[in-house]
This record gives sequence, C-alpha cells and structure tokens, in this order.
Amino acid sequence: MSFGLWLAATVGMLAVRAPHIRRSLSIKVARSRESRLDRALVALVGAGLLLPWLTVFDASVGPVRLAAGAAAFGFGLWLLHRSHVDLGRNWSNTLELREQHTLVTHGVYRHVRHPMYTALLLHGVGQALVLRSPLAGPAFLLAMFALVLTRLAKEERLMRDAFGDVYVRYCERTSRLVPGLALKTRSSQ
Ligand code: SAH
Repeated sequence: MSFGLWLAATVGMLAVRAPHIRRSLSIKVARSRESRLDRALVALVGAGLLLPWLTVFDASVGPVRLAAGAAAFGFGLWLLHRSHVDLGRNWSNTLELREQHTLVTHGVYRHVRHPMYTALLLHGVGQALVLRSPLAGPAFLLAMFALVLTRLAKEERLMRDAFGDVYVRYCERTSRLVPGLALKTRSSQ
C-alpha cells in the first residue's frame, strides 16, 4: 500500500511536469546562473525518487501516516500544477531567465514567491510519511531541502537584478514558502 501510494503520487508529479518540461525545451535561455552545486543537488533530488524502488516489498505504514502522506501528496500535486500553470513559459529546472521572461505575481504567486518548491517539499513530506525506510523515506525531502536552501537567495538575486524595484516590492508583500511565515527576508530589505 505504501509503495503503491508513493508510486501513484510520483507518476502524478511527473505527469504534471511533462508538458512544461517539453515546452521549456523550445524556449531560449536568456541568462543562466546555474552552478555545479545546483546541478549536483538537482541530480540528488532525482536520486531521492530512485531509492524508494528498493522498498517495493516493505511493509506498509499505519493508517494515520498513510492518510497524512496522501494529504501531503494531494495538496503538493495541486500546488505543483497551479504553480506550473501560473509560471507558464518562465519555468526552468535551474537558475535561468528565458527570452521575454516576465515576472509572475498572480495566482499562487500572489501569496508566496516559491510555491513550486513548497509543492516539491510537500511531495518529500508525503514520501517520508508513507515509506518506512529510514533512507528512502526522507531522501527526496532532504535533497529538496538542500536544493531550496542553497538556491533561494541566488534565485531572488537573479529576479531582483532582472526586475529591480518591482521585484523588491513583490518580496515585501509575500512570504517565501508558506503564507504568513518569514515575510521579511534579506531580498526584501
Ligand atoms: N522558485 C519558484 C520558481 C521555480 S522554477 C517557485 O518555487 O515557484 C525556477 C525559475 O523560475 C527561476 O530560474 C526563475 O527564473 C523563475 N522564477 C522564479 N520566480 C519567478 C516569478 N515570480 N516570475 C517569473 N519567473 C520566476
């Protein structure tokens, strides 16, 4: 049951992303600040989705953890879909600006600056809850956490350099990952 739930959520996540990945391949990159560290952490996040295959025959966790995991997966999937739709052609898997990049401040971006990272962290929480394995369970969450931790300030600097005061003002009225939490950040000062 645990592995099946994880698999369904992960297939759902990949299905939500697939059309956006395909579209991004045809949109030219105008500016890139991708680093070797960022690339390594993206690979580590990918590995966090491979380890669970080792748990295919593991016993399931109890109903409370299963239900909480399903809720995290469900809300994460919805948020991932909404943030991809709102971000549109501006999406990149790394630190990049696309040609004719526009600043998105509507939809889920009206409330937080990084809803897509929140969505992927939620997937990690779901995985940690439904898989028993102390390695495969938290693997995606930990890798995603490291990626977000090292990326947020750099990404916000990239956006500030591109959109100036408009982005600074946007930072002043939004939180990073969770509405109402850590409203003030270095990038907004
Ligand atoms: N951090 C955002 C976006 C993730 S995709 C989120 O979690 O929802 C990463 C790319 O999105 C970055 O390279 C940056 O160019 C772009 N980006 C981030 N915030 C944006 C915004 N508000 N409007 C337009 N593009 C944005």
